[in-house]
Amino acid sequence: MLLSQHGKLLVKAIDSNLRPTSWIPVRLLASFAQTDSSFFTPRVNKQRLWEDIHHSCQWGKGERWGKGETDTGMSRLSLSDSDRMARNWFEETTRSLGCTTCIDAMGNTFATRKGRQQGPPTCAGSHLDTQPTGGRYDGILGVCAGIEMLRVLQDEKIESEYPIGVINWTNEEGARFPISMVASGVWAGRIALERAHAIREVGGGKQTMRQELERIGYLGDMEASYKAMPIGAHFELHIEQGPRLEAKNQKIGIVQGVQAYRWHTITVKGRDCHTGTTDFANRSDAMLTAAKMILHSHRLAAKCASLASTGILTLTPGSTNTVPGTVCFSLDIRAGEDGRLMRLEEDLRADFGKIARNEAVDDLNDARTIGKGCTVEWSLDAPSEAIKFDKDCIACVTDSAKEIFGTEFENRTQEMTSGAGHDSVFTSYRVPTAMIFVPCKDGVSHNPVEYCSPEDCAYGAQVLLGAVLRYDKLRAEKSK
Ligand SMILES: [Zn+2]
Repeated sequence: MLLSQHGKLLVKAIDSNLRPTSWIPVRLLASFAQTDSSFFTPRVNKQRLWEDIHHSCQWGKGERWGKGETDTGMSRLSLSDSDRMARNWFEETTRSLGCTTCIDAMGNTFATRKGRQQGPPTCAGSHLDTQPTGGRYDGILGVCAGIEMLRVLQDEKIESEYPIGVINWTNEEGARFPISMVASGVWAGRIALERAHAIREVGGGKQTMRQELERIGYLGDMEASYKAMPIGAHFELHIEQGPRLEAKNQKIGIVQGVQAYRWHTITVKGRDCHTGTTDFANRSDAMLTAAKMILHSHRLAAKCASLASTGILTLTPGSTNTVPGTVCFSLDIRAGEDGRLMRLEEDLRADFGKIARNEAVDDLNDARTIGKGCTVEWSLDAPSEAIKFDKDCIACVTDSAKEIFGTEFENRTQEMTSGAGHDSVFTSYRVPTAMIFVPCKDGVSHNPVEYCSPEDCAYGAQVLLGAVLRYDKLRAEKSK
């Protein structure tokens, strides 16, 4: 049984909070008794969480999309003045909730609340920076739910076994300084500090990350490293940024890991020639060949539940009446498992070669389109292996969701793989990590209209709190 500082059973705190006005449907009350009866999580406050989210969104307001007070997007680029204001609020608020805060050389801010025993904190973390045309929930929800967790712990006077922390990671979006998740990457020892400090802002500015960290007062004294600032575990609540939860009217995604991806640049070389005087049979049409490859990557990926996308395409010489001799395009392929991704890549490499040489691949090189052939070259730009999150952390998330949904658990939750990268990818290299997803309207994110309802924000924060407290308890049991 979880006890508060004064020995009060926490089940009491739940009873007192489970008024008909509280956000947990009263009909679910009965189900609490059916789950792990030795663990009760105090309730988060839906309204207070909602107010924190939108209070923090006063800094860096973006495009207006509706008439309501909170109907604006966010444009809070990393290390801007508005980011500084949001960071100041994060520090002040967590300190007022009994935390000590420290800032590392990447501006990552760690707020830590004491536990009964010494040790690295079990953390909830996410980010307060946004895309230039971002929304109010991507990252912000995760940090604010961490703050709500601290508020509940303070209100209920809960003494955790080990310290509990909340982290604001710097420049997760990579929108202003173009490496995503760069600061958690430095913390994890996967990206060199010097390289990160030297990143220059996009969009014509000249400032580097280090200069901007210094300017806004967030170039911390502490080394940016999991060795200097060890944590016990990392839990991240995030909006799904996709449509799968909403489509099934589900509330919680129990994230098992992050899919693997490999980014390539493909170069197709043919021969420039006159569009009017060269018949198809005598062309080496690099653009037509690239188009067949892009279509084929889509078809093959679809066959093996993977993804393939082209976002950049350049061709030369770029003239209406010249068949282009050279085309470069990006190819981003993704899959839930490394093996599946590599098989897809091997098949694509073999088939792109055939397409270029005018050999048969499906209907792509039927007689009417055959020309003289091209060459194709691949260059790997960025590989990222599939991430599997920690079993214990996932179990804590699962049990926390079971406590809330009871017999409705199967209907209300879904095991998922994250399609996007998050700071949790880097923390998972060093500490047990898991993520929790909540639905967002129409699956829309990185857009001002991004929306997660107050109820869904609270469900996510509730699962986060329950997972962190369970993991804290698990750590104590394991150390016995
Ligand atoms: Zn995010």
